[in-house]
Amino acid sequence: MIRNAQILDDLLNKAHDRGASVAGYLPAAALRDCPSARAAGPQGFSTFSGTIVVLGLYHDPAKPEMDWWEPGGSTPGDRMLRGISRELAAWLRETHGIEAKDIPYQVYDGGIYLKDAAVLAGLGCIGRNNLVITPGFGPRVRFRALWIDMEPEPPAPCPMAPPCEACNHPCETQCPMHALHEGRYSRARCMARMEADKAAPVEKSGTKGPIDHCRVCELACPAHRIP
Ligand code: SF4
Ligand code: SF4
Repeated sequence: MIRNAQILDDLLNKAHDRGASVAGYLPAAALRDCPSARAAGPQGFSTFSGTIVVLGLYHDPAKPEMDWWEPGGSTPGDRMLRGISRELAAWLRETHGIEAKDIPYQVYDGGIYLKDAAVLAGLGCIGRNNLVITPGFGPRVRFRALWIDMEPEPPAPCPMAPPCEACNHPCETQCPMHALHEGRYSRARCMARMEADKAAPVEKSGTKGPIDHCRVCELACPAHRIP
């Protein structure tokens, strides 16, 4: 394996140049025992050597279609991230001879726990709404990752204090499912809303279109909101 912080810095710069809003890295081994793995079992991606690079894309509330789940199981925003991830992997292989690959989005498809990875990469902190709050974009960021066969470097620390203590919790009071009651996320309640969203896709020319999942707790959050 190659230890080379310069390559990682170049990679993050390339990620930003290609359109990523945030990017960071962490040792793949850090995900073996991350909070989601402890709570929900092992992630789909089972390589715990090398480095994970986490990419994030700002999902502008003025462009809700970036977040719409389309038949086939992806969103326009996720496809943009996948394109960036594959470009970066190709650059690593061709320029440095380093093996790299895009990681599927869904845990059940071989993916990682992306929110844990983003926090461990120093990109933000988990808010009371159970989302990653990032400096600059708040919780309005979606993530994807790639794996690279490179000895890990220590990730950058998150430069932001958690914003929730000084907030009056609109995420909680506006949640239509009371899934954030007293700051505790109820996966069951939130999932019930997700299932209802799936049953009521966006209409497109009278045919079933994409699924517009609930974002109330994300869009209500004042943290780092872009005017
Ligand atoms: S709305 Fe307030 S309490 Fe909820 S996640 Fe955002 S900052 Fe934290
Ligand atoms: S996504 Fe919707 S249902 Fe789930 S916690 Fe957020 S506001 Fe509540």
